[in-house]
Amino acid sequence: MRKPIIAGNWKMYKTAAEAKQFVEEVKGLAPDASKVDSVICAPALYLQQLVASTESSALQIGAQTMHEEKEGAFTGEVSPVQLKDLGVNYVIIGHSERRQYFNETDQSVNKKVVAAFEHGLTPIMCVGETLEQRESGETGSVVEAQVEAGLAGLSEQQASELVIAYEPIWAIGTGKTATAEDANEVCGIIRKKVASLFNEETAQNIRIQYGGSVKPANIEELMGMEHIDGALVGGASLETDSFVKLLEAGS
Ligand code: 13P
Repeated sequence: MRKPIIAGNWKMYKTAAEAKQFVEEVKGLAPDASKVDSVICAPALYLQQLVASTESSALQIGAQTMHEEKEGAFTGEVSPVQLKDLGVNYVIIGHSERRQYFNETDQSVNKKVVAAFEHGLTPIMCVGETLEQRESGETGSVVEAQVEAGLAGLSEQQASELVIAYEPIWAIGTGKTATAEDANEVCGIIRKKVASLFNEETAQNIRIQYGGSVKPANIEELMGMEHIDGALVGGASLETDSFVKLLEAGS
């Protein structure tokens, strides 16, 4: 069976002191790592400090993006080698905010996914449709195309270890959650696509999260769905109480 994975995406929030305090409070409350993978994806500035303070706890630390090259003249960027060197385990790739504001494309997302695996990081690759695409009935084809492009060149083993986050753009930070049935339907389309690109076993192994206004009040229903293996959480990951509740619901 697939182990659930609950990941907080802090985006560009928190000072160093706030980040430290959050992790100090939550690390002892995270459920056993055999039941759920509990991850905080923090601003790059704080990764070193947070990795050190979560050592030997069930809470794991991830990054929110990375460059695809291992080093080079890319002012302001962070490489997969640098993340791995700090002890980071996970990295979000291709979040819709990165696609929208930083010109990331399916092709650059694919390069980053491949590079993350090459350097021993587990990518959390984000896909999802806009409201316009949903309303014109394109959700399935948009998400399938993102999955196909994003997974190009991966081995079966890598595809099995990848985490895909289905985040409908219209549900991010809006308070609008996809219904659990709608979210499950799209996660099912993603799983089927993985089966067609690789095979049924890989599709059964891959973990698919839902993201978009996930909170303690709706996580249980989402987690009860066949194809939803976890959540990628923005706003509700910023408060210790709600994040701990989400971790408990995932375990
Ligand atoms: P919210 O949970 O704030 O809607 O954000 C979702 C998200 O973008 C997580 O990556």
